[in-house]
Amino acid sequence: MNTFIQSLPKAELHSHIEGTMEPELILKLADRNKIKLPYSDEDALRRAYQFQDLQSFLNLYFMCANTLRKPEDFYDMTLEYLKRCQQDGVIHTEIFVEFQSYRENNIVIEVILEGISAAIKQGAKEYGVTCYIILCFLRHRPAMEAMQTLDHAAPYFDQIVGVGLAAAERPYPPHLFKDVYDKAHSLGLKRVAHAGEEGPADYVWQALELLGVDRIDHGVRCAEDPKLVQRLIETQTPLTVCPLSNVKLRVFPDMASHNVYKLFKAGVNVTINADDPSFFGGYVTDNYQAIMDAHPFTKADIIQLAKNGIQASFLPPMQKTAWIRKIEAHR
Ligand SMILES: [Zn+2]
Repeated sequence: MNTFIQSLPKAELHSHIEGTMEPELILKLADRNKIKLPYSDEDALRRAYQFQDLQSFLNLYFMCANTLRKPEDFYDMTLEYLKRCQQDGVIHTEIFVEFQSYRENNIVIEVILEGISAAIKQGAKEYGVTCYIILCFLRHRPAMEAMQTLDHAAPYFDQIVGVGLAAAERPYPPHLFKDVYDKAHSLGLKRVAHAGEEGPADYVWQALELLGVDRIDHGVRCAEDPKLVQRLIETQTPLTVCPLSNVKLRVFPDMASHNVYKLFKAGVNVTINADDPSFFGGYVTDNYQAIMDAHPFTKADIIQLAKNGIQASFLPPMQKTAWIRKIEAHR
């Protein structure tokens, strides 16, 4: 089955680019930029990937992101990821880039995008993987700062497909960011937001009603509110579910307890994604495999999940149709 999943054309809609950095790259960049990390080698760094919750993960995540300084660092990170996408059968990915993470080091958007956009061009050529950028706001920082970031990014909107909202979910409800989402919408950007990962179902409602999102990132805690589940089914708003991440960060105690199968069978528009693959123990294929091992998904279900991913992407309709035909023909 693994070869079947691996070679199935898939989209990745929930991927924090910094979360794709493998220990080897993190240490290489720390060395290149003369940044001291409290880990002597790859094994020591990998041993630190044991998390109690979202916050304990974020602490390590921001420390690793701090090793990125120059365009070539962002280039190396993105191109390595796109190479792994190709190996993983991911033909299209939409990455979160958190520009605010780099403010303290005075790294401007231009520097970040110079590296990432060059890697995206190269990745399309070399690996045949398309990649869109989502400007992701940090919700534990003030909404005013998110607004400034949106303004600073304005000259680069040709390289950015939409906006997102991530990092520590509680106690930063989506409504705090209504103005910035309204502005993003008026500028023609797509909108997504993390909600219902560690935050309650009410945060999912807020993301839908106040932020007007096209997709919900995670959203698994929608199950706590039957009316919300009904609404998600009726509107077919996609959820970018990240199963291995949810288990690693203890949103669910184990994969057997994960509600991905129940939501999918109820008719929720579920897509399967990796979140921060290098930290959470698996890329997209691994996530498909993990849910199949723990739940009675059939081959037809897996095909449907892959189709959902393409359909929920921001690819142009013609490209979606072409990929969906390929998925349906996949054996
Ligand atoms: Zn995420």
